[in-house]
Amino acid sequence: MINEEDVKKFAEAKKCKDCLGWHKYCKAECCKIISLEIDPKILDKNDSEYIILKVGKQLCPSDQYYYRLRDVRYTRGTLRFQKDRIHIFGRKVFYIHPCKCLDENNLCTIHSTSKPKLCKALTLETAHEDHQGFIVTDNCLFRYKMKGGDENGEN
Ligand code: SF4
Ligand code: SF4
Repeated sequence: MINEEDVKKFAEAKKCKDCLGWHKYCKAECCKIISLEIDPKILDKNDSEYIILKVGKQLCPSDQYYYRLRDVRYTRGTLRFQKDRIHIFGRKVFYIHPCKCLDENNLCTIHSTSKPKLCKALTLETAHEDHQGFIVTDNCLFRYKMKGGDENGEN
């Protein structure tokens, strides 16, 4: 059952045209969080300062840049996440650290053409399709638009 605040947000989301109009709710969560597809138990078993994850493929320069902006090091097919920035919610694991390009008003300081491809790839359509490993964060506009909205947005 949804609460009154959510009812208001669903109604507002129908009229909201882009991410900027939704920042008062989401505060650009997508620029501060990365979902990690790992078993939370791995964290208990690991004494190191870092969690090192193998990526199954060579990351393209744009994807490497995306992780670098989050202070995640990419070397030889692995990504190194600082462990004290990793948080578990339920069975889900998240790396929480803001992108270097996010300013104090939660705006991206690099031009939309310079953003990593991954930043541009999350749209209402891709969020709907539930692929490419995107997470739609709890306060994201797309979550509220999924109930029948039709606009697209970019932060
Ligand atoms: S580059 Fe811009 S859009 Fe991408 S995560 Fe950083 S602040 Fe957000
Ligand atoms: S994609 Fe979602 S969380 Fe990110 S800026 Fe847009 S509305 Fe906010």
